[in-house]
Amino acid sequence: MPEVFVGLGANLGEPAVQLHAAVRSLAALPQTQVKKVSSFYRSTAIGPAGQPDYCNAVAQLETTLKPEVLLDALLAIEDAAGRVRGERWGARVLDLDLLTHGDTVCSTARLTLPHPALAERDFVLLPLAEIAPEAHIPGLGTASELLARLPTPRLVHWT
Ligand code: AMP
Repeated sequence: MPEVFVGLGANLGEPAVQLHAAVRSLAALPQTQVKKVSSFYRSTAIGPAGQPDYCNAVAQLETTLKPEVLLDALLAIEDAAGRVRGERWGARVLDLDLLTHGDTVCSTARLTLPHPALAERDFVLLPLAEIAPEAHIPGLGTASELLARLPTPRLVHWT
């Protein structure tokens, strides 16, 4: 079964509560098992100023759902959590990103894999390397190699 990694983030409402609920929703998807969930981290929001900090985590799944089908499921979980699609990089109750899906490399109007910002984001790579340091990011290297290329992350655990 393909190994899949999903990035989770929230900075409105009760971020940690929403992330726990999102993990339960991922576990309830058909043909899908949640294998691991990282610690929850606090990160400074990118985008418009004055936003609350984000709570971020990464989940490792095993699933036979195809990438586009899984993307639809992630968007449906976001919508069910009350996500309102506003300005780019605006605050959000839940953000789910498909980081990798096995060895799939693609770039369509709806889906880019690996996720295009993965290699630049410490709030993705730190939790990813925590649960799967040897995870292979197609075309880029392992999670721990990518993390080592970034400045030392200053993320703290979400408490
Ligand atoms: P955002 O919620 O701001 O991260 O953007 C969501 C949109 O990005 C979705 O409507 C997707 O069609 C698109 N997208 C492209 N690639 C990905 C990916 N790897 N994971 C999640 N969304 C993606």
